Formats: sequence, structure tokens, C-alpha cells
Amino acid sequence: MTLKKDKGICIRTTDYSESSQILNFFTRDNGKIGVIAKGSRRPKSSFLGAIEICTIGDMVFSHRDNEKLGTLTEFNPTFLGLDIRKKLLALNCAYFAAEMLNLFTKELDPHPVLFDEAESFLQKLDQSPPDKIVPFLIQFEFAILEQTGSQPLCDGCANCKRKFDAGWKQYFFSFSAAGLVCRDCESVFVDKKMITPEGAACLNQPEKILNAKPSVLADVEKILIEYITNVLERPLKTAPMILKLIK
Ligand SMILES: [Zn+2]
Repeated sequence: MTLKKDKGICIRTTDYSESSQILNFFTRDNGKIGVIAKGSRRPKSSFLGAIEICTIGDMVFSHRDNEKLGTLTEFNPTFLGLDIRKKLLALNCAYFAAEMLNLFTKELDPHPVLFDEAESFLQKLDQSPPDKIVPFLIQFEFAILEQTGSQPLCDGCANCKRKFDAGWKQYFFSFSAAGLVCRDCESVFVDKKMITPEGAACLNQPEKILNAKPSVLADVEKILIEYITNVLERPLKTAPMILKLIK
């Protein structure tokens, strides 16, 4: 087994186990290769977090001739393409907003407040730093749901009306209950999904979204897209790309 040094462009990423990734690189001197990056999904790994598609970097990897997958031992990115990914996410959020505006409203039925929210959201997409795009998207989703009278019930349990607090211990969201559901009621709702306390707190108090961790934002966004799909009774064409980009 020999260690090889090369420069590569990450062309495919697959999550492997809780902490690792299988990555395909197009390298300069070895051509296309597949490697496992052990522990790369842990924030404190030597890779400093998951490696994303289209990242370019200097790499060290081991590869046995008869094995399909090598092992990535070092990766130092020289091009992160953050701006490209930010633009891609912003562009897809704009398409998603347009599709929602089309599906949530009827002809000649004005919603001036929603118009102002949509205008402000599109302007923010253009100007905000990458880590604020998803929080702004979630705020816009809350706005469109509220302005069209379909906001989820998140003040307390949508079923027994018990007030929301930290004493719930377990938190659920049910699409048929149209909101948060407490531990005593969850068994009645077959479609419920367990959510993290942080995710539930964001649904309860949407202003918390601006300071939430990316993993919490992804959880909340997943729930909201599924909820919106349920309200509209149809899938949104632009939603799968959003889910892919925020993963
Ligand atoms: Zn309840």
C-alpha cells in the first residue's frame, strides 16, 4: 500500500455511516478515483467537516491495486466554491418562492402583505451571507402560510392545547394535526415525526431561526416543506433541490 499525493476536484459525495463519506474525485495525475474519508462528517475531524461537491484540494490517499475504494488521509481545500454554492442555493430558493406564490394564491386575489414579504425575501437572497439564506427562506415560508391562512399550530400541542414548554421532553410534528403534538397525544397521529427540542422551539418561536444551527435549520425546513406539500396537496417541483442543497 502506497500513499499518493495529488490534486483533485470532488465530483460526487455519498454519506457513509454516521460519520464518514465516500467521495469520488477527478484527480490531476490519477484520473477518477473513489475514496472513503473516515470521520469526515464530524466537525472536529482532520478534514474539518464534510467535503462538498466541487471542492478542489490537495489530497493524500492510499490505494491498493485490487481495491475499488482507497482511503483519503489528508485533504486541504484550495477552492471551496462557496460563492457558487451560495448562488445555487439562492437561485433555487427564488424558484421555490415563485412556485409557492403561484400555488398558494388565486387569480385577482390580492395579498399586499405577502407581496411585501416576497419582495423583501428576494432582495435578501441577493444580499445576505450564505448562512442566512435558509433562515430567511423559513421566515418567508412562515409568512406565506400565515398570509394564506394555513399556518401550522405551534403555540402548544395542536391536539390537547397544552402550552409549549421545555417540560414536554419529546416533541412531535404531525401533518394531519397541522402542528406540534405533545408526547401524550402523539400516538393518535400515525403521520407524526419526532423533532429535536431545538427544532420544536424554532417552530414555536420563529424569531429563534436566525440564530439556529445549520442542522436545526435543515430539520425545520424539511418539516415545513412536507407541511407545505400537505397543505397544497401536491409536491413542489423545486423542493427536492432545496432539500439537497441544505443537507
Ligand atoms: Zn397534546
